[in-house]
Amino acid sequence: MIASDKSQLYHFLSIAESWISQYRVDIPQPDFQDDPEPGDQASNGANPVFQSLESLACAIRECEKCDLHSGRKRAVTGVGPERPTVLVVGDAPGEEEEERGEPFVGDAGRLLDKMLASIGLSRETNCYISNSIKCRPPQNRAPLPAESAACARFLAAEIALLRPMAILAVGRVAARALLGTEQDIAQLRGQFYEYSEIPVLATYHPSALLRDESLKRPAWEDLKALKAKLEALSTGSGND
Ligand code: URA
Repeated sequence: MIASDKSQLYHFLSIAESWISQYRVDIPQPDFQDDPEPGDQASNGANPVFQSLESLACAIRECEKCDLHSGRKRAVTGVGPERPTVLVVGDAPGEEEEERGEPFVGDAGRLLDKMLASIGLSRETNCYISNSIKCRPPQNRAPLPAESAACARFLAAEIALLRPMAILAVGRVAARALLGTEQDIAQLRGQFYEYSEIPVLATYHPSALLRDESLKRPAWEDLKALKAKLEALSTGSGND
């Protein structure tokens, strides 16, 4: 553009600017809100922000909401089919789980797999396995309330995406995360509760069964009750 054209354009824009300024009004600043964090419920309360298990797993791996992230080798995301019959929720990953990035792969995991197989469930076909928190607490200590609270949105999102027919909470920490109770498994077991209208059964953690043989019988009773519940739900006769 030659200089005289630039000068003409400048002149024209100056006139436009002074003409527009007489109509300018002060617009009040809107009330800005933070964007929702991934996993928070959308404003209608219905849809989780996560659209898929993959995006949930990415958010879990990147999470820095509690102190456990600073010492972790890797976060442990859930494993199993996308449309499971049952979601099993454990307490927290242990050393082997953190090493491999998969829940329940140590001695307790092998026992859990056998327990599930006894009622026709497996992580390969119809059972999704996860934990109430996704990072291993140091020395396998119980998760602190702040750690459980920081991970609660991930468990909620997992359940919303999976919509299993039933949830099996193995261990007291898992039961507390799902049911918000401080009661121990001996008090909780033997009846179904609900999480978002999904039946929840609490039973002993497989590590407890490895330590105390006498718990195997009540755990077996719980598995039979779960099997009966699943059969009743699939024939449409079991929502009590
Ligand atoms: N114990 C748990 O609660 N979860 C695991 O993944 C392994 C052991």
